Amino acid sequence: MGKMRYLCGEKTTNKGMRLSDLQTGQAGYITRVSGHGGFRRRILEMGFVAGQRVEVLLNAPLNDPIKYRVMGYEVSLRRGEAAMIEVVETPTADQAAQKPAGAAAATGCDDSSCVVDPKNIGRKIEMALVGNPNSGKSSLYNALSGGHEHVGNYGGVTVSAKRGTFRYGDYEFVIYDLPGTYALSPYTPEELFVRHHLTENIPDVVVNVVAASNLERNLYLTTELVDIAQDMVIALNMYDELTASGARLDAATLETLLGTPVVPVVARDGRRIDKLLDTIIEVYEGRNAVARHIHINHGPVIEDAVAELRRVMAPDFDCFPKHFSRRYLILKFLERDREVERQLAASCPHYAEWVTTRDALAAKVEKSLGEDMETAIADEKYGFIAGALRETFTPGKQERRSATAAIDAVVTHRLWGFPLFFLLMWLMFELTFRLGEYPMGWIESVVEWLGGLVRHVLPEGPLHDLVVDGIIGGVGSVIVFLPNILILFLCISFMEDSGYMARAAFIMDKVMHRIGLHGKSFIPLVMGFGCNVPGIMAARSIESRSSRIITVLISPFISCSARLPIYILLVGAFFPSRASLVLISIYVVGILVAAATALVMRRVMFKRDDTPFVMELPPYRLPTLRTTLRHMWDKAAQYLRKMGGIILAASIVVWVLSYYPRGEEHSWLESIGIAAEPVMRPLGIPWEGSVALVAGVGAKEITVSTLGVLYSGTDEGADLAERLVEPDAVTGASDWTQAGALAFMIFALLYFPCLAALAAIRKETGSWRWVALSIFYNTAVAWLVAWVAYTVFNLC
Ligand code: GDP
Ligand code: MG
Repeated sequence: MGKMRYLCGEKTTNKGMRLSDLQTGQAGYITRVSGHGGFRRRILEMGFVAGQRVEVLLNAPLNDPIKYRVMGYEVSLRRGEAAMIEVVETPTADQAAQKPAGAAAATGCDDSSCVVDPKNIGRKIEMALVGNPNSGKSSLYNALSGGHEHVGNYGGVTVSAKRGTFRYGDYEFVIYDLPGTYALSPYTPEELFVRHHLTENIPDVVVNVVAASNLERNLYLTTELVDIAQDMVIALNMYDELTASGARLDAATLETLLGTPVVPVVARDGRRIDKLLDTIIEVYEGRNAVARHIHINHGPVIEDAVAELRRVMAPDFDCFPKHFSRRYLILKFLERDREVERQLAASCPHYAEWVTTRDALAAKVEKSLGEDMETAIADEKYGFIAGALRETFTPGKQERRSATAAIDAVVTHRLWGFPLFFLLMWLMFELTFRLGEYPMGWIESVVEWLGGLVRHVLPEGPLHDLVVDGIIGGVGSVIVFLPNILILFLCISFMEDSGYMARAAFIMDKVMHRIGLHGKSFIPLVMGFGCNVPGIMAARSIESRSSRIITVLISPFISCSARLPIYILLVGAFFPSRASLVLISIYVVGILVAAATALVMRRVMFKRDDTPFVMELPPYRLPTLRTTLRHMWDKAAQYLRKMGGIILAASIVVWVLSYYPRGEEHSWLESIGIAAEPVMRPLGIPWEGSVALVAGVGAKEITVSTLGVLYSGTDEGADLAERLVEPDAVTGASDWTQAGALAFMIFALLYFPCLAALAAIRKETGSWRWVALSIFYNTAVAWLVAWVAYTVFNLC
């Protein structure tokens, strides 16, 4: 033991008063400023730091705000803010004289120095022990304060807070042993008590006592405390039991992941207690390298609701209680937490409107996730814990395995993890294409039948041509791919909802590190196979800005389902015997270009990113057919809406451009295509292809619908693929070669992200600069890679 600890008697220190308690004309010395991050920093910046003298100049008519003089200038504070600053009254000469001389020597803790000696002002740390029942709080309290608090191996022993004081190093410590709680919800008297203590007493440092023998459950409370964002240290108690069981814990990694220092201790015999106190002092003095405020990510659905609530509440943030972080209050409000509701209702003028917004958002979240808000948030928190433990904790032999842990042992296995992942991916694409073929044939016949019907019903003329060639030809050629897209979305939804996707990201973490990203970037990218837009939006969960931007910008290289019709069409027409191989190669090209781009961006534009993060691993659950189908349908509905809107409009525009001017040599569309010819000729792409690509800027499916319009009507009965390979009536050769078709597919994969994706990029990066980069870079890369593919294919 390095520094001495002295025990102070129970009543030696009086708690200081609050600045708001001082009357006009009175003055005091600041002992400490409480509150969370942003608020506290602002107050400190204004000059309200420990040891400073403050004088009350003026109380406004309604007692709010109050004008103070500090550091020689005048500031006004709201009463609520002043209540967060603790002061002691100026010591008077006779107060000091009245002290009995022997008192200091007897207790080792000089009362006057604890309270009013100006040079020691602020050298006092209040801490609260918060933890599950039986985590060893009372044992730790006794070890720290030298008290004899009752220790028992059952819940409910500590019914109220015990307070003790002691000295360590330069500080006087005040310590509270609080009742044991599993969470901070307002359900049990213990939980309410702890919460009140944290808001009313506002400890300088919260000491979260965590039983190492039951980490998963104990850390749940930790995640709630992390949300509150007060200064905190984790006392990892019963470390002796952890070592004895043969388990291993990487405490250094765990503390970086939690943004909170973790000190292994053995409260029962007082081992490493000094280390704990040193860490507490470090955190209090703001010197601890680990302590940082982290946001536990609650998944896109909940985070979107939080962001929306924050937006609505932001104008009134001033009315929020100051002790807890805004994020915590918003989350709890979303959870319908009675306590937080009460606090906000009391002080916020727009509370009633907020409740309406909140109810709507909560209903939406609950509908989307298929469970109530509290369960959903708890699930996400447990997912966070599972992820953190998966990276840091190796269980001992006698550890019982939960079902989730058993599945994880296989799915994230060092050897089996990857083959299993690729098998599932292969299965997903196999299902998409093989199973999709059947309904595709049916839809095709319906479209043909409809075309034939309209052909006979409508009189010859431009309207007839518009409906048959423009609308039915254009939209019809895209809608036949709906089954494929539904199946792909079904697979992705199932993987997301079951919890497998998070594991895939987990095992991909190492690979992603190679390209300067995290496993977290993997989920947005996999979702991108369905549609890049939700993928880009999912990148929001990545804490690090640089990783987020890189993920967003490489997302468009991931081949979305809108590009699938292009491949299915061209692969079917030109590579029927090697369809799967060619298809997979195209997807791989996209992935490789994405990886290379990430590498280059990390090198050129950003520094290395060392932000630690937790890959959330939610518990596995068999998704109900209903929720999976609904998620699939949500995505499919977007696709259909696009079909009805932008694709229909584009089909008509393309048709008009290809139909007029009548009687001239070239239609307008042909003129555009011919203008682009010199650029696209080196890729083996005929002018029809160039036109289709230009039209595909709106949405990639339009590429196919444009080809549908351009190649319509030359031969009734034949489908589009057959018409593409047919020799040209004039030249006698087909417009397309195999190499050209390949180059076309690669160009379509990589060039200009669709308008919806660009809008999402703008939204997530917040800057048009990235949008411009995306357009130019992607198109340039597309041309280059397509040219290489064309050239190499022709050589072979
Ligand atoms: P509280 O409910 O959080 O106040 O926990 P207690 O302090 O009452 O402790 C609960 C049980 O854990 C008691 O039986 C203690 O003896 C035991 N305990 C406390 N700390 C340790 C420790 O570091 N190691 C071991 N092995 N047991 C401990
Ligand atoms: Mg106890």
